[in-house]
Amino acid sequence: MPMNSVFSDLPVTVFEVMSRLAREHVAVNLGQGFPDDPGPEDVRRKAAEAVIDGWNQYPPMMGLPELRQAIAAHYRHWQGLALDPETEVMVTSGATEALAGSLFALVEPGDEVVLFQPLYDAYLPLVLRAGGVPRFVRLEPPHWRFTEEMLAAAFTPRTKVVLFNNPLNPAGVVFPREDLELLARFCERFDVVAICDEVWEHVVFDGRRHVPLLAIPGMRERCVKIGSAGKIFSLTGWKVGFVCAAARLLRVLAKAHQFLTFTTPPNLQAAVAYGLGKADAYFDEMRRSFERSRDRFAEGLRAIGFPVLDCQGTYFLNVDLKPLGLNEDDEAFCRRLVAEHKVAAIPVSAFYAAEPIRSVIRFCFAKHDSTLDAALDRLAGALKGRGGAT
Ligand code: PMP
Ligand code: GLN
Repeated sequence: MPMNSVFSDLPVTVFEVMSRLAREHVAVNLGQGFPDDPGPEDVRRKAAEAVIDGWNQYPPMMGLPELRQAIAAHYRHWQGLALDPETEVMVTSGATEALAGSLFALVEPGDEVVLFQPLYDAYLPLVLRAGGVPRFVRLEPPHWRFTEEMLAAAFTPRTKVVLFNNPLNPAGVVFPREDLELLARFCERFDVVAICDEVWEHVVFDGRRHVPLLAIPGMRERCVKIGSAGKIFSLTGWKVGFVCAAARLLRVLAKAHQFLTFTTPPNLQAAVAYGLGKADAYFDEMRRSFERSRDRFAEGLRAIGFPVLDCQGTYFLNVDLKPLGLNEDDEAFCRRLVAEHKVAAIPVSAFYAAEPIRSVIRFCFAKHDSTLDAALDRLAGALKGRGGAT
């Protein structure tokens, strides 16, 4: 039966594939990004209370007023943004819906959309389904930074939108202010709207503070900022997302949202509204705890001979296999790893649509020490006799 070719030709997402292989092989799953920890109990309790005692019918289409106010207050406190909760903030069913709605609302068939590779796997199918023509900026390890020349090669007078992920999954990069300013200059010069996927904004390490693209001069009126409570509260299954944008943009994004999901479960929204007001200490401790896990896992990987790349944010640590001189690519390595050594990871080539980097694999370190240690024990065997330290 003829179906839409964007979806009929697509493989199943790599996260689902690797999680299924992890279950089949009874492996330690460091593939799909989700924490071992069940998430803050007070926030979960608020959700449970809201299910029992609260409102369980359709909430307002734009989101619960208390949540929209909490989002504006949270971003004022953490990122210095002045957002009007009435006209500049909308709640969506996860960042994924926000991405889809933003692209559907902004892109006309034939418009060019600048995308950075490695790219989160939902981006390209959504751009294509919106009729957008992708123009790629290809980032490479170890720094994954972009230059003026790279942007100059990607932006054209037909560019309508740039989709930018910062901090960047899977690379674990937090782009410095100068890179945001460079991107902003191109957005202004070519009159482009930036959809900025900032779901990892709170998961940044070593004393970093997230700088939203929307706060860069010139971007206030041309930036769609996307966040996700799933990442802020380590509750990845919750799918409560936020969109912040100037009123003239948000008005149209809301038209797409009204026919994608229309609303998001009100009980989870109530709990997220409560959570966003938690004391700074909660967010600082969350970061410190992931940072400790990152360091423990990075040291363990180095000790058994894996070349570890820098990780400035996200739940992900990347290893570049290239210096090891193995005769297999990232995908073959990951398939062997899960089947023979019972550890699941993600091949980073899955985040490229063209000219993939084939030597990098991504591990999720947002796990208990015991999970990370079990994985390290098993990983030690994966390099034996293959050029590793053991
Ligand atoms: N964008 C990026 C970069 C992500 O890493 C993820 C999920 N890990 C999402 C979007 C999706 O977020 P949500 O679960 O809120 O839809
Ligand atoms: N964003 C998560 C990751 O990068 C996975 C999300 C998903 O499974 N679609 O691992």
